Amino acid sequence: MTFKIEKKIASYKVLSTEDKAAAVQSANDAKINNLESMHENVTRPEILFGSTYKIKTPQSEHALYITINDMVLNMGTEHEERRPYEVFINSKNMEHFQWVLALTRVISAVFRKGGDACFLVEELKAVFDPKGGYFKKGGVFMPSLVAEIGCAIESHMKQIGMLKDKELDDHQKQFLIAKRREFEALHNDTSSLDENSAFPAKALLCGKCQTKALVLMDGCMTCLNCGDSKCG
Ligand SMILES: [Zn+2]
Repeated sequence: MTFKIEKKIASYKVLSTEDKAAAVQSANDAKINNLESMHENVTRPEILFGSTYKIKTPQSEHALYITINDMVLNMGTEHEERRPYEVFINSKNMEHFQWVLALTRVISAVFRKGGDACFLVEELKAVFDPKGGYFKKGGVFMPSLVAEIGCAIESHMKQIGMLKDKELDDHQKQFLIAKRREFEALHNDTSSLDENSAFPAKALLCGKCQTKALVLMDGCMTCLNCGDSKCG
């Protein structure tokens, strides 16, 4: 069978048997469930809704604005799902321009590929700047600007329901508040009167939640933020 190609060839790829089988399989799956899913060739709707997150680091006088736009799949059905589609980063500070631009393109490509994109958050948050990190309000340690971007994506994913918040239950919260009062009474610590510091001034950095909230209680290093304790 011969085909006459009328249009110009923009790109080409030889499909392997596996490629064909996978394409048929995914087409069938979609047909059976009649569901939209995220994939590389999904067409971008004219309008997307999203959120913009402001990041202000002590390392630059200009803030950074991260915009994450979402696509709503299977709108109006019980399978309705909001997924991030693209990310843009804007700043007056052009110092890291090419790397930031490259990062946004790669992240957007991962979003559009479909599948689980939540791993991005952990990967980005684990980037340490060799020049050193800094503490944010509430005593959270931020190891780099890339980690800040990871945190913004994380809060967005939590907001749209892709990531579940690992919240402590009420009993655990009460327990940590009681522990904190005990510590403050013991050390005559008045840092709780200071709005900016959520935890005692003498607290050390917790390796689990990266917050300055680790205190020595009853001979054990205990984190007043996430409850992590070396003594179990
Ligand atoms: Zn902790």
